[in-house]
Amino acid sequence: MPELPEVETIRSRLAPALAGRRFERVEISDSRLTRPVPPDAVADALEGERVADVRRRGKYLVVVFESGRHLLVHLRMTGNVLHPAPEGRKDDPHVRAVVRLDDGSDVLYRDVRRFGTWDLLEPGELDAYFAARRLGVEPLGRSFTAATFARALAGRKAPVKAALLDQRAAAGIGNIYADEALWYARIHPLAPAGKLSEEQVAALREGVRKALHLGIRRQGATLRDFRGADGSRGSMQDEFRVYGREGEPCERCGTPIVKTRVAGRGTWFCPVCQPSQ
Ligand SMILES: [Zn+2]
Repeated sequence: MPELPEVETIRSRLAPALAGRRFERVEISDSRLTRPVPPDAVADALEGERVADVRRRGKYLVVVFESGRHLLVHLRMTGNVLHPAPEGRKDDPHVRAVVRLDDGSDVLYRDVRRFGTWDLLEPGELDAYFAARRLGVEPLGRSFTAATFARALAGRKAPVKAALLDQRAAAGIGNIYADEALWYARIHPLAPAGKLSEEQVAALREGVRKALHLGIRRQGATLRDFRGADGSRGSMQDEFRVYGREGEPCERCGTPIVKTRVAGRGTWFCPVCQPSQ
């Protein structure tokens, strides 16, 4: 599932290709993508829109149009945006939408599991959209300080890993980067979020930022089928300290990494470096 670094990798390739381009023709072939709005209505509304920029908020790609509208693309499990369109696309049953740009090139939206979403917002609707989803601050932004992080976690009984996953304390962290951040910070994934010491919160903030920066530098993790917008593979999987490494030695202390489940998700940690108290 694409997390902040994977979405940022896609965004950074798309932004220069889309900025200034007009959506000439839009075809959306999957009604799940835009529901409850009919796909043809969204496609019609998008035609003629000119892109000002492509940004990111948490795990959302935010296509900013000159008109002030925004197209919010959430990739969920297996969504991806590809540009330029790869060879062999005509035979690809997983392409759910095609946008023809005014330079004649096509942008493809591909999604095997079909959990991704496209929401077209009118001018002025963006802040309310994110507020309704209780989306936290950007963990790589200036407002993600140890103090704001501590406030966001205060009083929460949930395991710290669950708190990282639910997007309210910081936006964009998913299963991979949560496990990696907790290892860097030497914090047990089941530690109650509201019980972390000041030092632990500061360490976790550093761990989150370190894991995300590394992920961006490695252009995301390619586990199953994640690809950058140009079809390239990321290499963050070569940097994993705990994620998916059950039984392999911890890089810090040599203890075998163990796997458990937290908030219904596979969770990997070092039982020595990340003690339960
Ligand atoms: Zn260890």
